Parts: sequence; C-alpha cells; structure tokens
Amino acid sequence: VYNFSAGPAVLPVPVLEEAQRHLLALPGVGMSVLEISHRSKTFEEIIRRAEQGVRELLGLPDHYHVLFLQGGASLQFSMVPMNLLPKDGSADYILTGSWGKKAIKEAKREGRVQIAATTEDSNFDRIPEPHEIKLDPNAAYVHITTNETIQGVQWPKEPDTGGIPIVADASSDIMSRPIDIEKYGLIYAGAQKNIGPAGVTLVIIRDDLLSRIPDGLHTMLDYRTHVENRSLYNTPNTFGIYIISLVCQWLKEKGGLEAMARENEAKAKMIYDVIDSSGFYRGHAQPGSRSMMNVTFRLPTEELEKRFVQEATAQGLDGLKGHRSVGGIRASIYNAFPREGVEALVQFMREFERKNG
Ligand code: PLP
Repeated sequence: VYNFSAGPAVLPVPVLEEAQRHLLALPGVGMSVLEISHRSKTFEEIIRRAEQGVRELLGLPDHYHVLFLQGGASLQFSMVPMNLLPKDGSADYILTGSWGKKAIKEAKREGRVQIAATTEDSNFDRIPEPHEIKLDPNAAYVHITTNETIQGVQWPKEPDTGGIPIVADASSDIMSRPIDIEKYGLIYAGAQKNIGPAGVTLVIIRDDLLSRIPDGLHTMLDYRTHVENRSLYNTPNTFGIYIISLVCQWLKEKGGLEAMARENEAKAKMIYDVIDSSGFYRGHAQPGSRSMMNVTFRLPTEELEKRFVQEATAQGLDGLKGHRSVGGIRASIYNAFPREGVEALVQFMREFERKNG
C-alpha cells in the first residue's frame, strides 16, 4: 500500500528495518532502546547522534540550539509567544492557511499580534507577494508556516524580513530542502511527517533569543530549561529521538537536503503536470505557491472526488482524501514517500480522467 497520509506519514524502509532488527536488544547493550534509561551512556550517544544529524543536514552554526520536546507543534503555538512575545511588544504573523490560524489564536492569548499579510480571502491558495506584506519594524518576530499542510501551499523561499527573526512552523517540510538558517530565530516541527514518529517535536532556537525570555514561566514551558538540560530535563521521547537519529543517517546517505529537494520537486512535478495538462483536475494552490509535500486538487464534483478516493484506496493508494476543511484530494509525498508511489498515482489519475472526464 502506498500511504499518502498527511501525518503521521511514511518512514524510510531502511530505518524501519534497522529499528526492527534492533528492537529487542541494541547491539552491545543487550536491552531494547525502549527500555534503556534516558540518563544512560547509550541514550546520551543516541541523542548526540540525532542532534548532530540535524545540525549537519541543516547546516546549523553553533549559536543555534537543537531541542527534542513533546506536546507537538501545537504546544509550540503557545510556547513561542510565551517565551518571545514581550508584554509591551508585538509579533507579526503571516497567515497562509489553517495551521497559521491556530498559531495566531494561541499567540493572541499572550500579547499583541499583527497579521502582516493573509491570503484568506482567496481560500489560502497562495503565498502573499512581497509588496502585500506589511511588517512592523519593531516586531519581536515574524511567524510563518513554511508549508501549510492542509491547503498545500508552501513558501518558495523565506520572506525578506529586514533582519527581524523568522519563527517558522516547519512541521510539514522540515528537512525536505535546504534553508537559509541565518534568517530564522526559531524553527519548530512535529516530527511525524518528514523526520520521525509522532510524539517528538524538533525545536531549533538561536542563542540570543534566550535572553528575551521572561522569568516566571512554568519550568517545562521555558526554552531555557531544555537548552540547559539538553532536552533531558524530564523523560524525553527516547524512541522518537532514536528514530530521528536513523532518519538523519538515511538522509545523509541519500545525499543530504539538496538531493532531497531535487527528488521532492521531481515527485511533485509529476502530479502537477497531470493537473496542468487536464481540464478535469483543478489544483488548489497557485503555481508559484505550490507545495512539494502536499499536492491538493479538486475534481469536477464531490461525487467524483468520493469515487476517486474509493477506487484509489481499492488499488492500494491510501490516504488521499483531502482535509475536511478544504475537501477534494490531497496527496502527501514527504521525503520517504517512494517515487514509484507517485508514478502509480499519476497513472491512476490519467485512467480515472479517461473513464470519467
Ligand atoms: N503545523 C503544521 C504545519 C502541521 O501540519 C501540523 C500537523 O499536522 C501541526 C502544526 C500540528 O502538529 P502536532 O500534531 O504535532 O501538534
């Protein structure tokens, strides 16, 4: 079965095989990775390798910290403003889809939020043009969602924020392509799409932002706790971090993020080409804002969409139903999604159009 689910999503087969091979006992340790103490030397080495993998792949300089937290990207919607939105200040949010809306809802509980640009009036079908983005030069940060998983809209590259640190929800495109790290103050991502299993959240934070954090936050909600304790203040998701270390190894063997980006673009192009050459399928996102991770499109009627999903599922193409808030079809094709699965979908789409178009 090809799993087009938006998340949790496919993991690389070699990673699953290695985890399976060593599930009962890690070599030289004699205990399962699920059983060992998070304070053990073995786990210290695992988390060190995971951090090193993230650092190497994203090219992180030393003044960025790498954290493995819990609570999902959803908890980051709150932690970001609790830590970084000063009571007498303001933060800019650029709103391009459903996840950004949720981030804004939580930020508003903490302080002043300015929506610097939004594409809501066209049902989040694109990223705003530079001239549409009205930044406050005194904003504490500019929040973006690098890839809106539900609408299938992705920033082609980081916006120019004139030096204001970008805070990015990169849950659905982390490690899918290289990034310009110096533009970011903080990046957060639930692991369960591109880098690991559900239950662990990657947070990357620039060192100087730590000095802005107000005293008095709950210990677990203060980024400094996790920086000072290297993500081991409490019991972390040990298994999730182990899988992340294996995924990073796999990504390096695949040629790193440049190679991943090329492969992701090639996979997405195959589906967009079918959409563009047909009067039957209609893409949701405008061409310059199309996601390489979540391809969203509609058919002429909801009835046909239902049949499309049913017949695709019967042929082993699973998880293609679009999110209920947008409808239509969504093909999620993260890093580990195989090219053959995309080829199978493209063939199915052509055949479905021929029969129903
Ligand atoms: N942000 C984006 C872009 C997402 O795609 C998701 C999950 O699908 C979330 C946030 C929420 O993540 P979590 O379920 O880890 O809280």
